[in-house]
Amino acid sequence: MKTCPKFTFGVGDRFAHGAHAQLQAFIAAKELGIDITPVWNKSNREHEIIGSEPQQTRDAADQAVADLGWTGEYLLDADHINLATVDRFIAPCDFFTLDVADDIGEAADPADVAAFIEKHPELIGTVTIAGIDQPFEITQDDVETTANQFLKATQKARAIYDHIVAAKGGSDNFVTEISMDETDNPQTPPEMLIILAAIADQDIPIQTIAPKFTGRFNKGVDYVGDVAQFGKEFNDDLAVIAHAIQAYGLPPALKLSVHSGSDKFSIYGPIKAALARTGAGLHIKTAGTNWLEEVIGLAEAGGDALALAKEIYAKSLEKKAALCEPYATVIDIDDARLPSAEEVNGWTSEQFVAALTHDQGNPGYNQHVRQLLHVGFKVAAQLGDTYLDALKANREVVSKKVTGNLLDRHMKPLFGG
Ligand SMILES: [Zn+2]
Repeated sequence: MKTCPKFTFGVGDRFAHGAHAQLQAFIAAKELGIDITPVWNKSNREHEIIGSEPQQTRDAADQAVADLGWTGEYLLDADHINLATVDRFIAPCDFFTLDVADDIGEAADPADVAAFIEKHPELIGTVTIAGIDQPFEITQDDVETTANQFLKATQKARAIYDHIVAAKGGSDNFVTEISMDETDNPQTPPEMLIILAAIADQDIPIQTIAPKFTGRFNKGVDYVGDVAQFGKEFNDDLAVIAHAIQAYGLPPALKLSVHSGSDKFSIYGPIKAALARTGAGLHIKTAGTNWLEEVIGLAEAGGDALALAKEIYAKSLEKKAALCEPYATVIDIDDARLPSAEEVNGWTSEQFVAALTHDQGNPGYNQHVRQLLHVGFKVAAQLGDTYLDALKANREVVSKKVTGNLLDRHMKPLFGG
């Protein structure tokens, strides 16, 4: 098992042209005393939409690290993989997010469920966890229900893990995460406890776990939900994890992973406070925020680059249904709030930048435009070299956007002094 650093920060580099600008943010953060490890993440879904290979993400990351002289650790995440999709990630990746969300609810063998209940009497009754005021009251029925929901998923995670170990020729060189976030129902802290017991029974050395939290984590926009309730749930999950490390011998570095969908600014405060209070680690994942910064940079550059940003919007609007389909559970776009292509064509650089930049205090900001473009990267992929050449021609303004966004809006609020 490779030990995962305490604070890891996931960045997405959809077109493999942003790694330098992203790494600059980590370098600047380090100069401010913020010690976070970059994790480049790109899911199978994104590779398929763009037509790219995981090795390209690895090459871009390695190049940025070499060019900028980064001497710290960095990782490459095989993001949201399963047994069917993991193979092309095995060589380039050293962080594997085993996605079992689709397996939740699949019935486990009744004998396995019975054995699990038999093995874990400590989960039934009044369960006191240090750091949580109100003990959990868990009945045998609750354990059975949760086991029926999640046991099969943990068995499948074990199968993926075994496959990676066999393909890598050992377990020493990678970090394992289990993700359950892309599903309909949040997992409660008592469920998290039962799930961690089941993962420990499967002997999977997980170091990060990504639950689905309460509230909406829509792509590229702020959290929608009860921030106070999120804060309580986050604190309770941290306490459950600390408890499970002791009770079930899970890796001491085990920590929560927040698949944020980018830009969940309103929960950064509660997360930061919880980390300060407990000393816990964190994996926070952003992704599409970087691609949006590229488009914002092009719009700011004006001229041909602004025209290209407008073309990307127009095509995204045209193909809206197909673009949104893979992301249906994580976007909420109000069609009535989307301006027409003609209207956007008339926008100045400032208007386009204001509409897309995630500044809720700016009256020009339009979260519907932002969510549509968030899923519109396929349009840029189809533009091929036209898009990539624009990134190169406007590297300075685009890089400044990418670096500044990560550093000022994500790293400093979450990890700054
Ligand atoms: Zn996720």
